[in-house]
Amino acid sequence: MKSLKKYILNKTGHFGEYGGRYVPELLMPIMEELEKVFYESIKDRSFQDELNGLYKTYSGRPTPLYFCENLSKKLGGARIYLKNEGLNHTGAHKINHCLGQALLAKRLGKKRVIAETGAGQHGLATATVCAKLGLECVVYMGAKDFRRQRPNVFFMERLGAKVVPVKSGGQILRDAINEALKDLISNPEDTHYLLGTVCGPHPYPVMNAHFQSIVGREVRKQLDGSPDYLVACVGGGSNAIGLFHDFLDDEGVKMIGVEAGGKGIKETSSKCDHAARFETGETGVVEGFKSYFLQNKDGQIKDTHSISAGLDYSGVGPQLVYLKDIGRIETSYALDDEVLSAYELLARTEGVFAALESCHAVAEVIKLAPKLPKNKIIVFNCSGRGDKDLFIVTEKFNFKIS
Ligand SMILES: *Cc1c(COP(=O)(O)O)cnc(C)c1O
Repeated sequence: MKSLKKYILNKTGHFGEYGGRYVPELLMPIMEELEKVFYESIKDRSFQDELNGLYKTYSGRPTPLYFCENLSKKLGGARIYLKNEGLNHTGAHKINHCLGQALLAKRLGKKRVIAETGAGQHGLATATVCAKLGLECVVYMGAKDFRRQRPNVFFMERLGAKVVPVKSGGQILRDAINEALKDLISNPEDTHYLLGTVCGPHPYPVMNAHFQSIVGREVRKQLDGSPDYLVACVGGGSNAIGLFHDFLDDEGVKMIGVEAGGKGIKETSSKCDHAARFETGETGVVEGFKSYFLQNKDGQIKDTHSISAGLDYSGVGPQLVYLKDIGRIETSYALDDEVLSAYELLARTEGVFAALESCHAVAEVIKLAPKLPKNKIIVFNCSGRGDKDLFIVTEKFNFKIS
């Protein structure tokens, strides 16, 4: 049997029929150069040492794996463990691939880093590593997001990044991605595009999955025994792949990716009240890769909705879609209301405010744990901490800030 662990990081960037590199010819040499330097660097001892040094001293790795004793008792079934990626510097798992890519940018001799951002979390992590490593940083952000996510804009600017509001299209994440790609085509010599999840053209899915896979490797070391279930939320898919990767060849370990069910996954023609790509998406080629997307009959991408800012992408990573197709992972979704209940329950039982994205995983754990015997182990990825969601949750819990 082939090793899925190896296959998911394979050098072609194809995963079954998904993945690939559907980019304008002008971008081909840039992607090829990045791919070459990536595969060289990860075998290079000095690159590994530098990255591991930053993980340890700057980001705060290894992050804790913590036994949720109270929550486990309350739910009355499996033993629940929380992998606390929220304790990373900048508050989420994103810094794992941001540090990796920023070091690659330096190896490539690039002086300038660009990034897309939706809610601003990826922009913030990118701006942070650029400040740390002395790289110029430009973050593209849909004009709508630029208005709704003011705190993150403030912090990115203080970190020295230039935040550019994108006024084209729907003024959201995918417009920011288009603008970043245009920038890259215009500035191929000095610029690295630091893409924020396991999507986009090869080598991004492989590269980000590689940098995130440290999460699962740490879990294997930290856990006494083997997990029975791994649970993670899925936006683009980077924190899920990060947790799952090291266990892909362990047949007994079940994996569940949880996407945003929003207000319910019933379809309307042009707009979705959710971002359930596994449930309702269709195969397409968008933004340089082949995967599932929420699109209409004409191939136009639909608007999505989620209570969490990080799970409302209309596409999803090609590796996860492949793993779902072959039956290696299961997928599920959590509704906004279930997410809020999960947010509160985790806070009250364990004293942990998880990001609303991560609370999708918690919501799944709440459904799963009671059905399992007490000797089973569930590990979920707490991909981020909840501070960033203050404005959303205060409104939902009818709390007036001022
Ligand atoms: C961005 C983000 C996500 C979603 O991205 P993935 O690539 O699916 O991991 C999940 N959780 C947090 C905290 C995020 O910031």
